[in-house]
Amino acid sequence: MSWCILCHSKMQEQVTWGMLLGTDPDPVACSPCLEKMTKITGPVCAKCGRPMDSASLCTDCVSWNEREEGILKENRSIYSYTATVKEVMNRFKFRGDAEIIRLFEQDIRTAAKKIPRKAVLVPIPLSAERLQERGFNQAELIAGCIRRPIVQPFNRLTSEKQSKKSRKERLAGAPLFTLNPEATVKNLCIVIIDDIYTTGNTVYQAAKLLKKAGAQDISSLTLIRG
Ligand SMILES: [Zn+2]
Ligand SMILES: [Zn+2]
Repeated sequence: MSWCILCHSKMQEQVTWGMLLGTDPDPVACSPCLEKMTKITGPVCAKCGRPMDSASLCTDCVSWNEREEGILKENRSIYSYTATVKEVMNRFKFRGDAEIIRLFEQDIRTAAKKIPRKAVLVPIPLSAERLQERGFNQAELIAGCIRRPIVQPFNRLTSEKQSKKSRKERLAGAPLFTLNPEATVKNLCIVIIDDIYTTGNTVYQAAKLLKKAGAQDISSLTLIRG
C-alpha cells in the first residue's frame, strides 16, 4: 500500500505487467490527481509548443521570428499551466519538495524520446542565492530524468545585479546569464531544459548565447507551457 504524493490518500492502483516486469515505475500519485495534471496533446504552435486550434505559428512566435530568426528551432512542453499544475509547481519550487520530480519522471522520459541521440542537455541555471534557498535546481532535476549528457555552460547573474536594473530594462530582456568562457558548445546539438516556458525570454537568451558560441542545433524542452 502506498500513498499519493499529492493528496496523500491511500492508493489502490491496478498492478500492471509493466510494473511487475519493472519497465513501468510504480505510480506515485492516484489516478484522480494524475488526471488533473493536464498534458498537452493535439495541435500546438509549430515553434513554441503552445496548444492551438491548428498547428500554425502563434502571434508571439511570429514576433520572435522577426527578432531572433534561426536562433531556436522549437520548444516543446509537457503540461498546460492549469491550477493543479501550478499548485504542484509551487510545492516543487517554492516549498522545496524535490520528491515531486518522481511525479513527472515518466512523462519527461516519454517526451525525451523525441530528443536526438546526439543531443546534450543544458539546464537553465539558478542564481547562487536561489540555489541555496531551494537546495536544488529544478531544471537540473528535470534534465536528470533524461539519458543524455548534461553540460552547464552558463553563469547566472545574481538577482542583486538584476534588481539594480530598472523594470523597463528587465522587460527589455536584460541579461540573465553569461556564457562561461571555457565552455565548449561548438557544433553541438543542444536541448535547453527548464521548468516553464512563458514569454520565451529565458530560453531565447540562452539559445542566443549558445548560437553565438557556435552551437548548431538548439531547441528546448520545458515541463510546462505557461
Ligand atoms: Zn491523489
Ligand atoms: Zn508559438
